[in-house]
Amino acid sequence: MRTMLALDTDIQYLKGVGPLLAKKFQKIGARQVRDLLYYFPRRYVDRTKIGRSTDMAQSAGQRILLRGWILAVKVSQPRPHFSVLQADIRDAYGTFRAVWFNQKFLAKILRPEAEILVAGKVVYNTYAHLYQLDVDDYELLTAAYRPAIVPLYDLTEGLTQKKLRQTMRQVLTVLPELSDPLPPELRQKYGLADLALSVRELHFPTAREAWRRARQRLVFDDFFYVELGAALRYQRGRTGLTGISFQPAGKLLDAYYATLPYPLTGAQQRVIAEVLQDMAATRPMNRLVQGDVGSGKTDVAVAALLCAVQSGYQAALMAPTEVLAAQHFAKIAARLEKLGVRVTALWGRHTPSEKKEIYRQLAAGECAIVIGTQAVIQEKVVFLRLGLVIIDEQHRFGVIQRQLLQAKSAANVDLLVLTATPIPRTLALTVYGDLDKSIIDELPPGRAPIKTSHVLPRDRAQAHEFLRRHLRQGEQAYIVYPLVEESEKIDLKAATESYAQLLKIFPEYQLGLLHGRLKNSEKEAIMRRFRSGEINILVSTTVIEVGVDVPNATVMLIENAGRFGLAQLHQLRGRVGRGQKESFCFLITEAKSEDSQKRIKALVSSTDGFKLAEIDLAIRGPGDFTGVAQSGFPDFSLADLVKDEPLLQTARTAAFALVERDLRLTRPEHQALRAELRRRSRGLVDYILLN
Ligand code: ADP
Ligand code: MG
Repeated sequence: MRTMLALDTDIQYLKGVGPLLAKKFQKIGARQVRDLLYYFPRRYVDRTKIGRSTDMAQSAGQRILLRGWILAVKVSQPRPHFSVLQADIRDAYGTFRAVWFNQKFLAKILRPEAEILVAGKVVYNTYAHLYQLDVDDYELLTAAYRPAIVPLYDLTEGLTQKKLRQTMRQVLTVLPELSDPLPPELRQKYGLADLALSVRELHFPTAREAWRRARQRLVFDDFFYVELGAALRYQRGRTGLTGISFQPAGKLLDAYYATLPYPLTGAQQRVIAEVLQDMAATRPMNRLVQGDVGSGKTDVAVAALLCAVQSGYQAALMAPTEVLAAQHFAKIAARLEKLGVRVTALWGRHTPSEKKEIYRQLAAGECAIVIGTQAVIQEKVVFLRLGLVIIDEQHRFGVIQRQLLQAKSAANVDLLVLTATPIPRTLALTVYGDLDKSIIDELPPGRAPIKTSHVLPRDRAQAHEFLRRHLRQGEQAYIVYPLVEESEKIDLKAATESYAQLLKIFPEYQLGLLHGRLKNSEKEAIMRRFRSGEINILVSTTVIEVGVDVPNATVMLIENAGRFGLAQLHQLRGRVGRGQKESFCFLITEAKSEDSQKRIKALVSSTDGFKLAEIDLAIRGPGDFTGVAQSGFPDFSLADLVKDEPLLQTARTAAFALVERDLRLTRPEHQALRAELRRRSRGLVDYILLN
């Protein structure tokens, strides 16, 4: 029976698939024909370049392709769950051996005298004393065979390269149905290749240049739709919406500046001016303030809060964790209460009756500022006159949350997002593409740079001695055991045991242990004692990662440093070097893997968060970027955020220009775009914008 394929045909109805195999396809994210079209290969085998068996020795360790006739096939089973299939093959130059692991069923298929193409890595077999081919891809040749460049897809158990290629060939017959949502003028302007042809070229390339253009086209699409969403959000924030016009000049701000113990840095002044200008304007503010750890973002936040209050509005500040919210509260409440402004904290630990009282005060307008976790914007919280929301995201991304918040507030409140960088420029463009940006690119003066060194575990005692010398001078230190195991329990055990040892190593000092399992009140008690100097060494898991601010702490030891991302290590390190005294950070690790060596080297050589973030992105790729995975960050199948940055810029320009001309994508010629945007954002992101 022949069925007509459509883009939305369920994969199980394809020839040779069926419900069972369809489940395997689901594992790679493909349910419908359209999903498969966009399941692009990781690599290709160039079957037009065939090697010689006599050249195997000089190709050791590399992937090569050989073609020949099978002489004999043998299967052996060294261990119960391990089989080796070995084929002796003759090519035009000699004979060679090809091996397949755990695929003994192939013995039925790989028949002597058959002609075969085999691709794989050349390895030296020390038992047989010969070079052999570890096959990862093969093809039995028929008379109809044409040499070609063929795709290598990421597989899942039960799904073979062959099956995927076969199914893909079938699926590609639907391509004439794939219409291009991009308006022709746009395609022409940016020299973009045809969509359907590009999809085909990506799967089964015909030539290098054609493939390059095809990839270019599809990467453009990846970026373009993300930027289109951003452009719509951006426009929505600017047109038609009337926000609050706050008063930037006023008694509270004047009083605050007068009581500041230090002059603001030039960067702080500039950013505060940008924020206040937004707040004064009638359109709602949508601004991101990026600033490295310790750059003084708190003062920017306080200035915005005071501007709201002196204009007669309430304001909320949200942080991602309770520890961080508590830290903000401690810092900010003290400053504001001096000026007679009421600040309340709101987070999980309050008793129901306390919460009720806080809700009442906020609803009655008795309290001007609330600081807390997400609890602050829960449904139950009603404000009398909410005018400003500040979100401190540190290095998390919360695109969707932000939209929900905007959709929720009836009044068009001003929005300020703070982030402790390390967001590479490209990521910032895609994730925060709809926000205006301010960058605090200057640290307060007098900060001695942090000296960072790599220490091997066997030299740990020397690092401890170094730390002791600084404790003797009245300084304080951190010893960090970041999350290693999947299980918090095992981790805690490791930290607790190490803590017991440290107590013996530093008997003359006060130590405190901080970890995620402690109650908030316990955490805070320890932090209070550390801040006051009563505790000399704070031993901690990563709970101190964000926001902790104790300028007298000058030495940090990070255990297992090789296992962590650059961004995280940079955040951690930012806990020292916050005062006038010279600070030190020791990264204790063997740094066995190449990536971890690169990270350690980067940290030792630089304290610039932006630079480190770029390096991190290059090493790890965006998928791994701290916190990105959980946050609805777009998943680019083809794009490389580092190498494809120019294309991202182009796509952004194109998207913003298009939305400028059609603010809500209502023109008839943009209906296909609108549908594609909806499809790509799975209804989640842009339903607010398009209605
Ligand atoms: P961030 O939130 O950006 O990491 P903070 O606002 O917590 O940084 O500031 C870090 C430290 O620097 C704090 O101890 C703060 O009091 C201090 N600080 C901030 N601005 C200045 C300044 N202009 N001059 C001197 N010290 C400052
Ligand atoms: Mg405004």
